[in-house]
Amino acid sequence: MLKIGLIGVGHLGKIHLKCIRLAREAYELVGIYDADAELAARVAAEFRVRAYPTAAELIADVEVVDVVTPTSTHFAVVKQALEGNCHVFVEKPLTETLEEARQLIELSQRTKRTVQVGHVERFNPALLALEGVSVRPYFIEAHRLAMFNPRGTDVSVVLDLMIHDLDIVLKLADDEVSDVRASGVAVLSETPDIVNARIEFRNGAVANLTASRVSLKNMRKVRLFQRDAYISLDLLEKESQVVRLYDAEATDVPERGQQFPLETPRGHRIIHVDQPPSGPVNAIQMELESLARSIREGKPAAVSIEDGYRALSLAQRISDAVADNQRRLHDPQA
Ligand code: NAD
Repeated sequence: MLKIGLIGVGHLGKIHLKCIRLAREAYELVGIYDADAELAARVAAEFRVRAYPTAAELIADVEVVDVVTPTSTHFAVVKQALEGNCHVFVEKPLTETLEEARQLIELSQRTKRTVQVGHVERFNPALLALEGVSVRPYFIEAHRLAMFNPRGTDVSVVLDLMIHDLDIVLKLADDEVSDVRASGVAVLSETPDIVNARIEFRNGAVANLTASRVSLKNMRKVRLFQRDAYISLDLLEKESQVVRLYDAEATDVPERGQQFPLETPRGHRIIHVDQPPSGPVNAIQMELESLARSIREGKPAAVSIEDGYRALSLAQRISDAVADNQRRLHDPQA
């Protein structure tokens, strides 16, 4: 069992606390630390766990640090944990800037400590259900719409929400980004609250993403269009659907799912609609347990610090493209 300490016990930190307790075969919870000492004391009493007076004292007593503080503090807290020779789980996004992320990658390599980034959607049952399904999208459409919540508005909607889909898209497209176009509007906060981005990959695949935190309803959908299939993921409902086209004479049409005949300009076809089964999972517990496994087996993290860097780097390109677009809107001559 690995000794773990939690830094940051705000909204998400308290959920992490419960999940660490559930992951009892992987971790022994040693204590918590929060910059807000009153909050730390309250949470410590509620969860019957020790609240440390400083981060340094907690780090000295553990092997793994779980960082659930605001994004603007990730760099300093993760740096301190790595310098204290601890493995780290850090909530997404990895850091606020690419330079900070680069420094943490270098530090994790030097200290030989594992860092996992909390791109929790990788553990969404809708995505896990695609294991065994051949995914080679030509076109990806992602919508992540959320009702307004002042929490998280210290960063733009790209770093707050779209980054989840950027990580998924980078994983699924599995190629280098060749071009980025984006536009966005700051509606209620100081930074863009709604952003649309078009990402082109070197192999010609295109992803079109929309993220909003000023929506009247919540939606998290990713749709993948490929040569022989349409795959739809509902990350909120945690369901996926795979619609695949088969030749009328095909002998490999899966038994599970529904079949419909279809007349096409290329002759008879069969449409096969399947909902790959997805069991209920606690995604945060899973991601924390996955880090423990990586540490024990000396294997790379499921969502590595480099993955966190790639998502952040793409988020930065999108934010730059949004700023560029806004400049042109205000000054069409520019
Ligand atoms: P929050 O504001 O509710 O909680 C943050 C806590 O960190 C507060 O209690 C604050 O006192 C404490 N804190 C601030 N600076 C600190 C420091 N230097 N050292 C120790 N404690 C410090 O925020 P939250 O909503 O819990 O978000 C925390 C992180 O989780 C953010 O990075 C956010 O992007 C991420 N997040 C991820 C998801 C997800 O889906 N994976 C969802 C929400 C938030």
